[in-house]
Amino acid sequence: MKIRYSDHKRIFNIHTEQIPYLSVEMFDELGVPTLYSTRFKSFDDQSGEGETGLRVVVMKTEDDTEAAPVVFKNRDLLARQLESSIEHESITDQMHTNHVYVVTENDLGPILRTEKPPHRRSIDGLITDLPDVILTAFGGDCPPVYIADPVRKAVGLVHAGWKGTLGKIPANAIERMTEQFGSDPRNLYAAIGPGICIDCYEMGDEVYEQFSEQWGRSAADQILRRYPAFADDGKEVPGGKYHLDLREANRMTLLDAGVRDDRIAVSNVCTMCNADVFYSYRARRMENEQAAMIVNRFKV
Ligand SMILES: [Zn+2]
Repeated sequence: MKIRYSDHKRIFNIHTEQIPYLSVEMFDELGVPTLYSTRFKSFDDQSGEGETGLRVVVMKTEDDTEAAPVVFKNRDLLARQLESSIEHESITDQMHTNHVYVVTENDLGPILRTEKPPHRRSIDGLITDLPDVILTAFGGDCPPVYIADPVRKAVGLVHAGWKGTLGKIPANAIERMTEQFGSDPRNLYAAIGPGICIDCYEMGDEVYEQFSEQWGRSAADQILRRYPAFADDGKEVPGGKYHLDLREANRMTLLDAGVRDDRIAVSNVCTMCNADVFYSYRARRMENEQAAMIVNRFKV
C-alpha cells in the first residue's frame, strides 16, 4: 500500500494486520487508539498485493437490510484491532452540519443512520468521556478531526467537509468538551486525518464568498487560492477556479480554539491523489467510504 508522505514529517503509521488501516502517530504515543481505514480488506506487505472493496458504511443507494450485516461485521473487525468492538461504538451522520453530540451509554452499539432516534440525527461530531467508547465517522474526501484530552480522559471526533469546516465544527467539539468534561484546550491533542488536498479541491466562487462572509476576507484568502486556468496552447486565460485548503482551515480553527500548535498533527495523505488506496468522491470512487475511529482509552 503506497501512500505519499512528506519527507520530513510522518503523521500516520500504517498497520497491515487483518484489515489494513492508518493510525495517528501522535495519538499512538499517547496510547489513544485511532484508525483510518482504506479500500483494502487485506494487504500483504511481502507481495505488495491486497484485496479491495472494504465496506464500512451503508451508502444511500444501497438496500439497508442487505448491506448492514457486512458493514457491521467489518466495523467490528476494525474496532477489534483497537481492542474494542462495535458494541461500544457510536457513529456520526455525515450530514455536513456543525452539530456535536455528547455520547451516552444509550447511544452505543451497531446502528444504521436511518434507524437513529431523532435526537441523534444530523450529527457530524461526537464527544465522550465514557471509558472505552469508540467514536466513528466516515469520509471519502472530507477529513476527520480526532481530539484527545489526556487530563480529563475524553475524546472527540468530527467529520469536517467544507460545510462543517465553514461552521468550525472542531471548535464546537472543543467548546462542548470544555462545558461537559471541564477540558482545557491547552491540554488537548488534535489530528486532522486523511482527506482531499488543496490541489484536488476545486470550488465555486460562492464558497469563497461564504468563507469571506463568515471568517473575514483575510482568513478566506489564507485558505482559498484561485488557481490559474490555461488554454489548449498553454497560455493562461481568465476563469481560474478557487481551491480550498481544508487542512489549513481546520488547523486555523483548532489554533483559534486554543489548541497548542505543537499538539496539532496534520495528515498530508490525500484521498483523491491516492484513489488506488482510498475511496474518493471527487475521484468518482464512490462505492463506499473510509471509517475514522477513536477509542476513549489512554494507555500511557
Ligand atoms: Zn490531492
